[in-house]
Amino acid sequence: MSDAAPSAGAAGTTDRDGDAAGDAVGTAGDDTPLLGVENLQTQFPTDRGVVKAVDGVDLTIESGEIVGLVGESGSGKSVLAESVAGIVEEPGEIVGGDVRLHGDSLVDKTEAELERVRGGQISMVFQDPMNSLNPTLSVGEQIAETVRLHQDVGESVSLSAEMKRKIVGAAKNGEAWRRAIEMLEAVEIPEPESRATDYPHQFSGGMRQRAMIAMALSCEPDLLVADEPTTALDVTIQAQILEELTGLKEEFDTSILLITHDLAVVAETCDRVNVMYAGEIVERAETEELFSNPQHPYTQGLIASTPRIDVEDQDLTPIEGNVPDLIDVPFACHFAPRCPEAERECFEIDPEFRDVGEDGTDHEAACLRRGPEGDRL
Ligand code: SF4
Repeated sequence: MSDAAPSAGAAGTTDRDGDAAGDAVGTAGDDTPLLGVENLQTQFPTDRGVVKAVDGVDLTIESGEIVGLVGESGSGKSVLAESVAGIVEEPGEIVGGDVRLHGDSLVDKTEAELERVRGGQISMVFQDPMNSLNPTLSVGEQIAETVRLHQDVGESVSLSAEMKRKIVGAAKNGEAWRRAIEMLEAVEIPEPESRATDYPHQFSGGMRQRAMIAMALSCEPDLLVADEPTTALDVTIQAQILEELTGLKEEFDTSILLITHDLAVVAETCDRVNVMYAGEIVERAETEELFSNPQHPYTQGLIASTPRIDVEDQDLTPIEGNVPDLIDVPFACHFAPRCPEAERECFEIDPEFRDVGEDGTDHEAACLRRGPEGDRL
C-alpha cells in the first residue's frame, strides 16, 4: 500500500518506530510521495510530565489523494495536523522524526522558510473559521491578501500589518481581487462580487467555512490540511462542503489530509483512512476496505458506536472507558485498558503493524491478535 511502510520480516509486520518507512519515504525519486511523515514525535512539556501527543507516526499522501485521519478527541489528530503544517504552539515541539513535502524535510526549516511553504504549498482549514478570519477586513480583501503575499510578493511576509493592508488596498482592483472573486465563485458563494466586500460576521457559518476553503485554495497549494472542517456545521451544509472539497480537489489538483472524529465524513470523502489512537496510528487501509473489513478492535469499536443514517433501530455500542492521558499512556498496546480482547501480552508488547487485508489488499493493523496465522496471540 502506498501509505504503508514496506513489510519487514517474514511475519508481514512493519516497524512502528518508522525505520522501514523512513527508508522508503526519505529517498527522493519517482516514488517520493507528496507528503511523507516519518516516525513523527511531537511532545508538550507540562508540570505533570511530557504529553506525547504524536508518538511515532508514519503517514503518506500521494498527489491527488484525500487521506483521512480519524479518531476520538484527544487522540493527537490535531497536533499531527499542526506538526505537518509547522504550526505547533510552544512549548510543544517536534522532538523526533520528519515531515517531508516532495521529499524535502520541513522540520529544520526556519519560520520564514515555513511561511513560504504555508499558503504556497500547504494550506490549512480549521473547524472554526471565525478564529481564522480577520473580523476587520472584508472576506475578499483577506483572500486577495493571501494571493498577493504568497504569490506576487512572497518575500513580503515579514511586512508590517499596515504595509500588508496597503498592498491589499492596491490589489483591490487588480489581479488578486479578481482571483478572490473567482475563488468565492468556485466555492459557490452567491453573488461573489458583492459578497466579497462583506465582513466575516455578515456571512453564515457555512459561508465562512467556504470562504476559508477559498482562501486556503487561492494559491493552489499542493496539500490542504483540513482539521474538522465541517464539525460546526449542520448536516446539510456539511454534505455540501464535503462535496465541494472533493470537487475542488479535482479542479485545483490539491491533495487533502482530512482530520475528523466523524466516520461518516471519512466514508464519504476519503480515498484512504488512518485510524489514530493515543498518539499512534493503529490501522490504515483504503476507505472501502476499512469499513467493510475493520480489523483493529479500536476501529471496530468506533464503527460499532457510530450511528448510520441508512440503518434503522441500530444497537450502538460505545467503547468503554476514555482515551488515556497522553502523559501516562500504557507502555505496550495503548488500547489495552479499553480493549475487549486484551490478553496479558497486550500489556507487555508494543504491537507492530501486520498485514490484515484479504487477498493481498493493502491493509495494516497494529494488534497482537490480528495478522497472519501463527503470529497472532
Ligand atoms: S494488541 Fe491486544 S489490547 Fe491491543 S488492540 Fe490488539 S487485542 Fe486489543
